[in-house]
Formats: sequence, structure tokens, C-alpha cells
Amino acid sequence: MSKVVKTDAEWRAQLTPQQYEILRKEGTERPGSSPLLKEHRKGIFACAGCDLPLFSSETKFESGTGWPSFYKPLDNAVGTTSDRTFGMLRTEVHCRRCGGHLGHVFDDGPQPTGLRYCTNGCALDFKPQDS
Ligand SMILES: [Zn+2]
Repeated sequence: MSKVVKTDAEWRAQLTPQQYEILRKEGTERPGSSPLLKEHRKGIFACAGCDLPLFSSETKFESGTGWPSFYKPLDNAVGTTSDRTFGMLRTEVHCRRCGGHLGHVFDDGPQPTGLRYCTNGCALDFKPQDS
């Protein structure tokens, strides 16, 4: 997969200020603020930065955290790094193609993976499946 690399100025021009803050500065949206929390149609959640398909609606679940949550990303869609900000060890999740920050993954999710990809809705672009 070829990487999407842009300068800071290019990202600023392309993204909304909130998307820029989350994707490029590892920001976090206010819990409960994402319209995608109530998105229950079938479809694909793509990266708001580079349009790479990241998650399927099939793996979305109600976590009650206030952030859109998934138990599994699509194949080869995301990368992870260790994040020690705020003095706790967390696993940061980003888009494999443009490196945009998506959220964090925790090991308290539902089966079959037991994982919870806690994701900023702002970092995602929902594409309903055409029937
Ligand atoms: Zn991306």
C-alpha cells in the first residue's frame, strides 16, 4: 500500500479544524459528540484523512463510552503504537496509509476478538452500503 504523505499546511487546508486536531495532533473529541454513535446502517467507515476503508459496520458495537467502537478493523487498515501520555500505557491506533490518529484499542471488548477499538467519529467518514 502506498503511503499518503502531506505537509502540515496541506493537511490544515484539507481537513476541518477538529479533524486536523484529532488526525494530525492525536486529539480526542468530546464523548457523546459524534453523530456516528447513532449510525446503524450497513456500510464502511473510512479514514477522514485519506479515504482508506478502516472499519465495517459489522464490527461496530455499543460500548457506552461515548465514542464509536469496533471490535475489529478491516485487514491491513490500521497500525498501532504504544502511547504513554497521561502516565498510563495505552495502545494508539492510526490509519496505515496516512498515519492519521484514530483512537486507542483496549482489551475489554466483546468476542470474537475481545478488543475495543475506541475511535474518534471525527476521524471517520461513513459510507453507507448501496443496496
Ligand atoms: Zn488515512
